[in-house]
Formats: sequence, C-alpha cells, structure tokens
Amino acid sequence: MPVTGLPPYDPANIFARILRREIPAKVVHEDDFALAFHDINPQAPVHVLVIPKGAYVSQADFAAQASEAEIVGFWRAVAAVAKALGLEAPGYRTLSNMGLDAGQEVPHFHVHIFGGKPLGRMIAVD
Ligand code: AMP
Repeated sequence: MPVTGLPPYDPANIFARILRREIPAKVVHEDDFALAFHDINPQAPVHVLVIPKGAYVSQADFAAQASEAEIVGFWRAVAAVAKALGLEAPGYRTLSNMGLDAGQEVPHFHVHIFGGKPLGRMIAVD
C-alpha cells in the first residue's frame, strides 16, 4: 500500500497510460527504470518529466516501496536526462510535488526537470 495520504495507485492515471503507450508523449529517454518526456504545459524553456516504470503514487511511496535498484536507476536517469538535454553546464532545477499541499496533480511519482534560463527564486513567496 502507498504510505502517503494519497489514494492507492490508479493504473488509469495519465502517466501510466503514457508508459503503456496508450497516449502519445514526446519521449526523450527510456531505460529499464525510467521514462522521460516533455511536459505538455512547459513552465521553462526546457521542462521534462522523469517517471519510474514501477507503479508508485508519490515520492514517499517510491522511497518506501521501490527496490534499491529501482531507486538508483531512476535517479541516475534523472541526471542522465538533464545532461543529455545540455543542462548540466548551465544548470537546472529538479522538483517533485508530493501530495496535497504541493499540489500534486498526477498520482504517479515524477520529477520535473526545469532549465534553459536562469530560474529565479527556489519557490514563490506569498
Ligand atoms: P504535478 O503537479 O507535479 O503532478 O505535475 C503534473 C505535470 O504533468 C504538469 O506539469 C502537467 O503539465 C503535466 N502533464 C499532464 N498531462 C500530461 C501529458 N499528457 N503529457 C505530458 N505532461 C503532462
């Protein structure tokens, strides 16, 4: 079971459907542990999402339930994708929304990679 306050994993969520190739995505990377594709509503010149291939609702669920091989493979993929996109030298930001207060919209764990310009403050201040 997921460890968060989120509902159990829903295999009909949009990223699960992208993993199954039921709906299209602009894929930039795929390996045994991760799939990366462009966000449909980019918030920066480069905005890519990296998702694990396993069925994990959130960051907390992934950390608690995934195997060490999945965790290592996933985070290596995040860094490899950023490098392949040319973001390593200029820099980039990774972000994962976890649960309600973060406004997580899609209940399949994902990491956003933002880059392509100076990204400003870390978080909006009220
Ligand atoms: P989050 O709020 O962290 O759950 O972010 C979900 C992200 O998924 C948003 O940035 C959306 O623009 C993005 N998104 C939703 N549907 C799709 C899709 N079909 N293809 C690519 N990105 C999507």
